[in-house]
Amino acid sequence: MSISQNLEQFKLEIHENVTLVAVSKTKPNKAILEAYQCGQRIFGENKVQEMVEKWQSLPNDIEWHMIGHLQRNKVKYMAEFVSLIHGVDSLRLLKEINKQGKKVDRAIPCLLQMHIAEEDTKFGLSKDELFQLIASDDFQQMQNVEIKGLMGMATFTKNENQVRKEFKFLKECFTDLQSSLPKINTLSMGMSGDYKIAIEEGSTMVRIGSSIFGARNYH
Ligand SMILES: *Cc1c(COP(=O)(O)O)cnc(C)c1O
Repeated sequence: MSISQNLEQFKLEIHENVTLVAVSKTKPNKAILEAYQCGQRIFGENKVQEMVEKWQSLPNDIEWHMIGHLQRNKVKYMAEFVSLIHGVDSLRLLKEINKQGKKVDRAIPCLLQMHIAEEDTKFGLSKDELFQLIASDDFQQMQNVEIKGLMGMATFTKNENQVRKEFKFLKECFTDLQSSLPKINTLSMGMSGDYKIAIEEGSTMVRIGSSIFGARNYH
C-alpha cells in the first residue's frame, strides 16, 4: 500500500481526538511530502540534525515533534521551531530547554518521558522521579517550558497483557499528574505495533512510523 493509502486507513481507524504523529525518521522529503499532500501536518523525528534539515526544506506549516532521546547540547538547534519535545527525562534537560526557550522568547511545549517498559534500554522517569521533578524549586521557576503531558514506550513484546499493563500504569501517572498540573492534555503512547492497545488505554497521541512509511533501513 502507498503512504497515502496507509494514512487514509489510519484516519478511518483512529478517533478524531487522538492525534497522529507521522514518524518520518530516516525517510526522504519525498515521502513526507506525499503524506503532506494527504493533509498530514505533524511529523516526528528522532535526530535533531535530520529534523532541522527537513524543517528548512519542507513547507513551514509542518509541526515538527522531537520524539527521540535528546542530548542537551542539541536543544539550541531546534528551540525556535520545535512544536513538541516528547522525550524529556531529566531536570537537567528540562533546564536546558527552558534556557534555550528563553533565548528565543517562547515556552517550548514538552512531554515528560516515563520509564514504563521492563527493558532497561528505554529511557524515562520513575513515578517518584516524576513527582520530585515537578515539586522542585527549579521546575516551579521555569517560564520557558510548557509541560503538556507524558510520553512512554512499552516493552517490545508480543505479550499484549504486558503492554496493556504498562500503558495502564502510564495512564495512571497521567491522571495523578493532572491534580498537580491541571492543564496537561497529552498522553503520547502507542506506535505501529501497539497503538490499538494504547488507544484503548487512553492515549491521546500515537507515534506511527513503519505502518505509514514502510519499514526503515538502518545503515
Ligand atoms: C521510531 C519511533 C516510533 C515509531 O515506530 P514504528 O514502530 O515505526 O511505528 C515511535 N516512537 C518513538 C519514540 C520512536 O523512536
